[in-house]
Amino acid sequence: MSHLKTIWGLLFRLFPCPTPAGLRRIGDPASDSPVLVTCNFHLTVKRLERCLRGLDAWLLVCDSKGVNVWCASGAEEFNTHSAVSSVKTSEVSTLVDHRRLILPPLSAPGIRAAEVQKQTGWTVQWGPVRAEDLPRYLAGGGHRDEAMKRVTYNWRERLDAALGSLFPFYLLGAVIFLLVWRHLLLHYLVIAAATFFAFFLACPQIPGKRGLTKAVIPEVVLGGILVTSLLWLPASHWPVQSDVIIAMVMVLVYGVELGGLAPHMTSELDPALARLGVGAIGNVRFAGTVRTELLIGNRVLAYDPPTCQGCRSCFEVCPVGVWAFEPSAGQAVLAREQACTACRACLVQCESGAIQAPRRNTV
Ligand code: SF4
Ligand code: SF4
Repeated sequence: MSHLKTIWGLLFRLFPCPTPAGLRRIGDPASDSPVLVTCNFHLTVKRLERCLRGLDAWLLVCDSKGVNVWCASGAEEFNTHSAVSSVKTSEVSTLVDHRRLILPPLSAPGIRAAEVQKQTGWTVQWGPVRAEDLPRYLAGGGHRDEAMKRVTYNWRERLDAALGSLFPFYLLGAVIFLLVWRHLLLHYLVIAAATFFAFFLACPQIPGKRGLTKAVIPEVVLGGILVTSLLWLPASHWPVQSDVIIAMVMVLVYGVELGGLAPHMTSELDPALARLGVGAIGNVRFAGTVRTELLIGNRVLAYDPPTCQGCRSCFEVCPVGVWAFEPSAGQAVLAREQACTACRACLVQCESGAIQAPRRNTV
């Protein structure tokens, strides 16, 4: 059953895959062992248990409706309330004699660290972005180097995220071909899979920040192949053209979905759905959210340096390194605004009000 859930979590990440919330033991934890907080997405918990093998720690699994950390915190399902209630309802306070929680930094758009501290008395430390870095992070006494703070989206992460998000689309396409163009089903299965791997492995090298922008160059290349083949190949070679058309459609589908896959990419899907009047699907809201408004451009990220209290939170939680910190001034610096992906983490964590997202017409 657990293996089936792991496969489901790998291939159908768009859908919830819950595991029981509550406090878990990793190894043989003692009262001074670290307390790590995570969501109750089955695959995430399995990964953490694997990465922490050989260590002693407490793992506080919070209810995120079975959704992964990034998606659940973006949709505010993995939020301050779920963290606070997990601390209060589990027996962690009686088993541990320190009061430090280690949170995944990708939960920062959902969990307000200062509010957790206020409501529970536990301080919040941000852990490394990647679970694989946890042993090094713990061995280093909680020190995070720059690589532990930022998302990289290397080929393994791309493949992992893309497999989970796109497999349902791949399956849906297979069903459509089975029903409508059965004679092309095998072509579809091969071409769609090949396009998928080629596009995702190459995507960091393709210019553009958004998925659809990145799809432009492959579409132009494929369009050129299509036109050339129409001009030069006889009609008997039409399967070549249908293969190219399949590849073009799949690049488009992958391009649209790509934006939502990684914390360092902006989503086209959310604003597009909001513009189409789709307010929400299930618990995931699109229309009217600050993130969508920032992506559409109805709101802007605004920073007021004199209000900054120098807490460094924005610098610590931004997954793409938009913020720098100027120690001599004791202030944050909005250093790479163009890299912002509107994740809201800095907005949620900034307690001073120095970071805001006002409506454009009020700026
Ligand atoms: S801008 Fe806000 S979050 Fe960033 S250092 Fe200043 S007070 Fe802290
Ligand atoms: S600057 Fe943009 S990407 Fe960075 S934390 Fe803030 S909203 Fe997220």
